[in-house]
Amino acid sequence: MSSVLIVGGSHAGVAAASALRTEGYAGAIKIIAQEPALPYHRPQLSKEALREEVFSPQPLRPEGFYEKNGLVLLCGATASQLHLQDRCVVDANGQCHDYETLILACGASPRRLPEAADPERRALYLRNFDDLRALKARLGSARSMAVVGGGLIGLEVAAVALAKGVSTTLLEAGERIMQRSVSRSISNYLADRHCANGLDLKLGTTLASIERQAGGKGDVVFLEGGEALNVDLTVVAVGIAPNDGLARAAGLQVDDGILTSEQGRTVDPAVYAIGDCAAWFDPDKGRHIRCEAVNPGQDQAKRVAAAIAGRPVPALGIPRYWTHQGAMNLQMAGDVHGATKEFVLKAPESGAFSVLGFQDDRLVAVQTINAPRQFMQLYQLIGTDSDRLTAELDWEFPPSHHH
Ligand code: NAD
Repeated sequence: MSSVLIVGGSHAGVAAASALRTEGYAGAIKIIAQEPALPYHRPQLSKEALREEVFSPQPLRPEGFYEKNGLVLLCGATASQLHLQDRCVVDANGQCHDYETLILACGASPRRLPEAADPERRALYLRNFDDLRALKARLGSARSMAVVGGGLIGLEVAAVALAKGVSTTLLEAGERIMQRSVSRSISNYLADRHCANGLDLKLGTTLASIERQAGGKGDVVFLEGGEALNVDLTVVAVGIAPNDGLARAAGLQVDDGILTSEQGRTVDPAVYAIGDCAAWFDPDKGRHIRCEAVNPGQDQAKRVAAAIAGRPVPALGIPRYWTHQGAMNLQMAGDVHGATKEFVLKAPESGAFSVLGFQDDRLVAVQTINAPRQFMQLYQLIGTDSDRLTAELDWEFPPSHHH
């Protein structure tokens, strides 16, 4: 019988299993998931899960879903070897899982500080439910916190801490926050709002080391340049590294992610890779791109599932992301770094707006603050030119609208 093995109980991995059944795939499907819990929603971990007193992870799918769809879910199992020739994955207990087709959806791990900078492992990271528990336990009684990294996790965590009255200092190595995900205008807007809420933001700043406070429970965070901060806890969120070690050791091509075709296929035609661990070839850009978010991974899952089931492969949607930081709900989509011009479109809601990014005369990116309906409307219009936008939005473009 044909069979698909999925490594990773991630958003992408579970979406692939589900999409295989939707596409009518009738073979055996097994998911190897590393954590003991049912696969769960991760985005909440740096948002409501941190804010609320009591929290348990919300499963991606209810327990009954797996059985009902004939999916074998092995929780608490780690894939430790991949043998491409034999088409089998060996888990940490030495058990061998055969496959006809393999989908690697192994996710990513937080980049950690070098041991020399944190010899006592004082820093807290946030990727899974165990990390969350450890962080909540410390944050509950904290009065001060240092956050290293002004990306999505750093800012979401800082916003929750500030709302709890924790005095928070954030160190960002770059010259602006969220450089990877948003344009400069949005970075500046977010930075202003966070600072107005009391965030002590230090741009262009890196950490030299973390030490235990002499006689205290907290940390001393030494900055490059000599300054020292005394804080109750330190959260480090300086990005992720793809979990591509299994693939690398097996001999698949890996370069900051498992390299695949634009269909998600690796150099071994029986093996696909999706989600945070995968770098898909992007024919428009002419290079491999690794997306770090829920929605693009789920899109990739649908594509791969259709290919495996022998069904028409759907087009990839335009990646979209969201983040909640204090009172700000930011949604973004498209190629924010490819835009050469930006215009601001006010939303009907008070204080809400969208930043539209253009390449020549084409809308290529949308970033919206607190206006989900406007975001969805604009999202559909990505790729269209300004004449069509003017017609659709009843919006007169600024004079720079030139032909
Ligand atoms: P990130 O890539 O979003 O941000 C990392 C930040 O750390 C960057 O701004 C970078 O310049 C900075 N940095 C790197 N090295 C540093 C150093 N030595 N000192 C100080 N700053 C440094 O990564 P993250 O915030 O760690 O998030 C991890 C992953 O989780 C990402 O893939 C992210 O997309 C995902 N995530 C997404 C959401 C969301 O979409 N809302 C929320 C949380 C997490």
